[in-house]
Amino acid sequence: MNVIFIAPPAAGKGTQAGMLSKDYNLYHLSTGDVLREVSKMDTDLGKKVKEIIDNGDLVSDELIFELLEDKIKTLDSVNGIIFDGIPRTIKQAIMLDKLIKIDYVIYLDVEKEVAMKRAVGRVMCPVCYNTYNTYFDNIDDNKCNTCKVELSKREDDTEEKFNHRFDTYLLRTKPVIDYYNEKGILHIIKNIGTKYDIYENIKSVINKGNNLWLT
Ligand code: ADP
Repeated sequence: MNVIFIAPPAAGKGTQAGMLSKDYNLYHLSTGDVLREVSKMDTDLGKKVKEIIDNGDLVSDELIFELLEDKIKTLDSVNGIIFDGIPRTIKQAIMLDKLIKIDYVIYLDVEKEVAMKRAVGRVMCPVCYNTYNTYFDNIDDNKCNTCKVELSKREDDTEEKFNHRFDTYLLRTKPVIDYYNEKGILHIIKNIGTKYDIYENIKSVINKGNNLWLT
């Protein structure tokens, strides 16, 4: 089973994808995480990627696919993949269709104001990638509750960069939602209740679609 998560920036798709991947033994493939790893490398590519993601722009469709294909080759013994952060353009959606069969597209419908607060307050553990929010979570000394290391903030999680990412999302990623709607595999999940309520709604979409995936 392969699942795509589409949502505005900082809407919580990483959190939902993380929970789903554990319950269904799916590999959580976050292109943002892949690119952030690349951006730490002291190479021309690393520097270029860092500049693009720090500005809130998209890396090229060709580069993201090269990285994606390399990653997929390393995976075995998983029930499938959760694509978190890809496709972000129509061209990426067409390329992904050629690569793998997608069973579900989950669109998290989150209002801009809510996503903005999640972005601006977001801090992340550099070791386990768990995210916290300075507005909503109880964080001791700015340290990860599990790893006890200092939490870090993404360069693109400022209000200005968020606005730019959101505009890019409207222009380039929103059309991808219509693309999957026409294919009949789009499921809209409203931002109602806690992250656990939202997760239950996602699970019921998937369980309804295929009894084999019931846990
Ligand atoms: P968010 O959903 O919070 O905006 P992600 O972690 O998914 O963040 O992505 C962070 C950044 O990585 C994006 O703003 C973009 O610069 C880059 N990126 C991630 N996925 C893609 C992709 N599929 N195509 C192009 N750029 C991407």
